[in-house]
Amino acid sequence: MGGLIAAKALASHFEKVTVLERDALPTKPQARTGTPQSRQVHVLLRGGLDALTKFFPDFETELERAGAVRARVGAEIRIELPGFDPFPQRDLPFDTLCMTRPLVEFVARRLVEQQGNIAFQLRCRVTRFLTSPDQSEVVGVRYDAAGGESTTLAADLVVDASSRGTLTLEALDSIGMPRPAETEIGIDLGYATATFDIPSAAPPDWRAVIHRPAVESGRGAFLFPIENNRWHVNLNAVHGETPPDDIKDFIAFAKTLRTPTIYDAIKDATAVGPIYRFGLPCSVRRQFEALERFPGRLLPIGDAICRFNPAFGQGMSVVAQQVGVLGRLLDARTGTGGRLDGLAQAFFAAIQDVLAAPWSAAENDFIYPKTRGQCPANFQQRLNYSGALLKLAAEDADVHRILFEVNNLMKPPSALRDPHITSRVAAVMAASA
Ligand SMILES: Cc1cc2nc3c(=O)[nH]c(=O)nc-3n(C[C@H](O)[C@H](O)[C@H](O)COP(=O)(O)OP(=O)(O)OC[C@H]3O[C@@H](n4cnc5c(N)ncnc54)[C@H](O)[C@@H]3O)c2cc1C
Repeated sequence: MGGLIAAKALASHFEKVTVLERDALPTKPQARTGTPQSRQVHVLLRGGLDALTKFFPDFETELERAGAVRARVGAEIRIELPGFDPFPQRDLPFDTLCMTRPLVEFVARRLVEQQGNIAFQLRCRVTRFLTSPDQSEVVGVRYDAAGGESTTLAADLVVDASSRGTLTLEALDSIGMPRPAETEIGIDLGYATATFDIPSAAPPDWRAVIHRPAVESGRGAFLFPIENNRWHVNLNAVHGETPPDDIKDFIAFAKTLRTPTIYDAIKDATAVGPIYRFGLPCSVRRQFEALERFPGRLLPIGDAICRFNPAFGQGMSVVAQQVGVLGRLLDARTGTGGRLDGLAQAFFAAIQDVLAAPWSAAENDFIYPKTRGQCPANFQQRLNYSGALLKLAAEDADVHRILFEVNNLMKPPSALRDPHITSRVAAVMAASA
């Protein structure tokens, strides 16, 4: 996803953009090996949809035309949180689109392919980045082409959107520059996603369900509509528990959730195809912004910088917003000499605002005593505050809207620091002290 959006952003600033992709890309929306997460439920937050729409004005229309299902975030997505089963359903003034991950990627790719100066080279696995003789900058890539031959491609700018970011780390090693420090939040997440035909007797009062785990069980779930009148149902668990991939056990697991909503929805529904599992050991953030030296003309983006616990549904939106930052930096540098000088450092600094809120959401995993990593010093205070904020949002439609705009990455967390809100949260905390 990051590579596609970056290609579109760079196409307005460079004569030619080449996307090197290791997979043969399918001619219809379909999971593939290079994105092993693609069979899992993928939520596209409104903030991500907005960021994508800036690059692809027709994105929302095209996605819906291809089968994505529109859902009103406050009214049609039932949210179950410990203490709020469910959180009040109100008509907040924004929708999102629900679909499979392959569909999001397919629609974005079709729009990228319409751009005349972007070329795709498929079944090309990049093996390393090439550096200048003085090793101060990256000047191209070496890759194994479809026929197996090792080939090079020179470039003014190389974007590493390979998800793992290994190529960037290896480039740093090869020129003797230190790797970035990494912060990990160890959660050992287990994911299992099944597909069901939506039964004709599906409940009319919601289109999707988000069921957040209680600390005691660590078991959560998602139910989202996807193309072709189906549901994606995901069951998840933490710290080594693996949700089942057998349909009978899957439904039995759903029965153990705090509420019967998802169990009741799927117990008599028809499952389509196998159940796919995925394990993710931790959220990881690489502190590229703290490096004193970084090679010129190289830019890692997306999961190569920061990978989140997917249960918060943020990764695609965050990379779209990162590319938004990149586009603005390039716009501001247009016409200036040396527009690529120090670009990576400027980018790493500028995306910290994009990463702050989603990383803070990932830090919520410290509610589990078994979570590995450095728990933020003020974590208990944060929990108390966010608990009181939720109570206020449940009662007050305006606060509900702003909280959900922040959670959907449409507004920065500072929107919740308005004194009108903070004073009322303080009052709720005082009342429950
Ligand atoms: C289980 C799971 C569920 C998720 N759910 C959500 C969700 O609900 N919502 C959400 O927004 N995000 C979700 N994410 C995160 C999301 O998938 C990523 O954040 C998002 O795809 C952005 O990643 P990216 O662009 O960095 O890499 P990707 O989108 O993963 O793309 C990497 C690309 O690089 C290619 N590649 C890799 N190595 C090479 C090489 N050497 N040469 C050439 N090509 C190469 C791959 O084939 C692939 O096409 C989830 C992630 C996981 C693991």
